[in-house]
Amino acid sequence: MQFWKRVKEEAQKHLATWLAALPPILLSMLAALPEKYFPLETIAQIEPVQWLRTVLLLLAICTAAIAYVVYVHPKKKFISRVGAYLELKSGIYLCTKCAAEEKNSPMLETEQGWRCKTCWLWYANPDYKKPPEPRRIDSIE
Ligand SMILES: [Zn+2]
Repeated sequence: MQFWKRVKEEAQKHLATWLAALPPILLSMLAALPEKYFPLETIAQIEPVQWLRTVLLLLAICTAAIAYVVYVHPKKKFISRVGAYLELKSGIYLCTKCAAEEKNSPMLETEQGWRCKTCWLWYANPDYKKPPEPRRIDSIE
């Protein structure tokens, strides 16, 4: 279950970036094709108004994709298990208290949890299990 949740988070991180990059990549690949692959007779029959509509539609799609990545796509996500924000691009946890003050403060990561570099607030790692204590030897014979 944890594995699929992690896969979903990773896919969400990169999906928006690829959606924005895909139209320009595909269009540049199409433009680089040799002339023999273009149906020139069919293209010559297309009226300039149709070309204009197509170009405007492609521009609108590219602009919407870029706007989605820049403005709508979340840059950080609140992880309720930890009680902190996760910066989606870098995978670094950010302090919730500092985020409330509109500061992006990355945290130092240890096995037991995370500590804010700015306010030194501690966030415990819910997955951390204390290692078993070494056996005591009471009497040495
Ligand atoms: Zn902080």
